[in-house]
Amino acid sequence: MPFSKLGLSDPLLRAIADAGYTTPSPIQLQAIPAVLEGHDLLAAAQTGTGKTAGFALPILQRLSQRHYSANRPVRVLILTPTRELAAQVGESVSQYGAHLHPRLKTEVVFGGVKINPQMMRLRGGVDVLVATPGRLLDLVNQNAVKLDKVETLVLDEADRMLDMGFIRDIRKLIALLPKKRQNLLFSATFSEEIRKLTTGLLINPIKIEVAPRNTAAETVEQIAYLCNKANKAELLCHLIKTNNWQQVLVFTSTKHGANRLTDKLNNINIKAAAIHGNKSQGARTSALSGFKAGDIRVLVATDVAARGIDIVLLPHVVNYELPRSPADYVHRIGRTGRAGEEGQAISLVSHDEVSALRLVEKLIGTAIRREQVVGFEASQVAPPMPPEPPRAPRPARPSNQARKPSGSPRGQVRVRGNA
Ligand code: AMP
Repeated sequence: MPFSKLGLSDPLLRAIADAGYTTPSPIQLQAIPAVLEGHDLLAAAQTGTGKTAGFALPILQRLSQRHYSANRPVRVLILTPTRELAAQVGESVSQYGAHLHPRLKTEVVFGGVKINPQMMRLRGGVDVLVATPGRLLDLVNQNAVKLDKVETLVLDEADRMLDMGFIRDIRKLIALLPKKRQNLLFSATFSEEIRKLTTGLLINPIKIEVAPRNTAAETVEQIAYLCNKANKAELLCHLIKTNNWQQVLVFTSTKHGANRLTDKLNNINIKAAAIHGNKSQGARTSALSGFKAGDIRVLVATDVAARGIDIVLLPHVVNYELPRSPADYVHRIGRTGRAGEEGQAISLVSHDEVSALRLVEKLIGTAIRREQVVGFEASQVAPPMPPEPPRAPRPARPSNQARKPSGSPRGQVRVRGNA
């Protein structure tokens, strides 16, 4: 069925043609009519399925059809887990609304950057607000924005928002919205927590599931290369060079690991950049745009930083380390093989990760092909780990700050992940 049969107005159809889309994706086929009719939506869909257009197009149509007051209260609120996703959704909304008259105003707000410019931008009112929950709550608390006229709420990547601990902020924000409104919830996975959130939030929702729950996209070829931990960097360089990969997204589990790998790649003239939580927003944006433009061949990212990254037709995703949670694997490889294109998801699996690989397979319900690369084969038993590089000696503590006994035996002290 073509886009023209979905009930969308001419200005939106023109924007769709500008974007080069010819046929609606499965989620768009189901979501667009449902949202146009005003239904609530519960959609199981990951990034790469075309979900953004699936909600943005019908929302824009409904917005443009209704009269709005001159002071432009927020009428559509889209919550996303990360700044990258917020920025991308904001861009898409502006792109799809480009031919609407009068023009609708879209703003994007997220944490990690100064709040004042965002307050200024909200002053004249906005029609569509895309936001990460924490920053939006700050803006509400500072009276920079009101949410009492919101007609449509979108929770994008809801599972991610819960994983990132946004549930309290989300609930606080929902309490500020008018009772009568349309609610759309998108999530790649459906945990008990998501189910709890949807109860009471969604009213008789239309349920859409475009890929079977928790399964990886079928167009993605998945391979696990079994190798020794110490050889991973060399193996990755070898794969990039021998296969002549030009655009690779590589996931590491830590920020330090991302930096180290990026340095190694750059040292052998494979242009790489890292994005993670310690990088400024400017550095992240320029790394991402360099990667999209083809100037940067390898983007090395931690899960948190990579959430929601939208790169069309990304051919290769590499798990340099398997993620801590199997659901993250589904998210990671959702970045390749998009819009019906074939993609490849490669995992470099060392001895200590074989059990994590099995958990991934259990979740996705398929066995991942195991291979070895000649010259980089995994040894029969795990080789002993190389000694840690020596650390700079710590300055002695002044005696009045002597460490208190922790009461916790060594080896059981919890260390927070730094990804
Ligand atoms: P999303 O799942 O919303 O992140 O979209 C994934 C990518 O698919 C984006 O780059 C969109 O521009 C693209 N896309 C969305 N809808 C279509 C479509 N109907 N045909 C081709 N590409 C699309």
